[in-house]
Amino acid sequence: MEDCLFCKIANGEISCDFVYEDEDIVAFKDIHPRAPVHLLLLPKKHIASLAETTEADIALLGKINFVAQKLAEQFNIDQSGYRLLTNCRGDSGQEVPHIHYHLIGGHFLGAFTEE
Ligand code: AMP
Ligand code: ZN
Repeated sequence: MEDCLFCKIANGEISCDFVYEDEDIVAFKDIHPRAPVHLLLLPKKHIASLAETTEADIALLGKINFVAQKLAEQFNIDQSGYRLLTNCRGDSGQEVPHIHYHLIGGHFLGAFTEE
C-alpha cells in the first residue's frame, strides 16, 4: 500500500527500532507514549482497520494477541496489568489507517472511557 506510514515502517522503508518482528507482525514503541509502556503491534499486511478484517485474518488477529501477551511479559507489565486496544475508524479517533493495537501499561490506567 503506497503512502501508508505503517506499511513503510513495517517494510523497513522508514527506519524504526522494532521491539518484536516475525514474518507477519512488527511491534515498536509509540512515538507519543501515553503510559510508561506504550507499544504498537501491527500486521505487515496492509489492513485499514478492524472493520476491514475478514475470516482469512482470524489467525493473524489471534497471533497479535499472543504476541501482546509475550511483550507484556518482556516489558514487565504482565503482573501489574495492561490494556490492548485498537481504534477503528472515525469515532474512535483512529489516526493511522493501518490496523494496529496499542499495548499500554506501567501505571494505573484508570477508567476506559472519557465521556
Ligand atoms: P491511532 O490513533 O490508534 O491511529 O494511533 C496512532 C498512533 O501511532 C499514535 O499513538 C501515534 O503516537 C503513533 N505514531 C504515529 N507515527 C508514529 C511513528 N512514526 N512511530 C511510532 N508511533 C507513531
Ligand atoms: Zn499499511
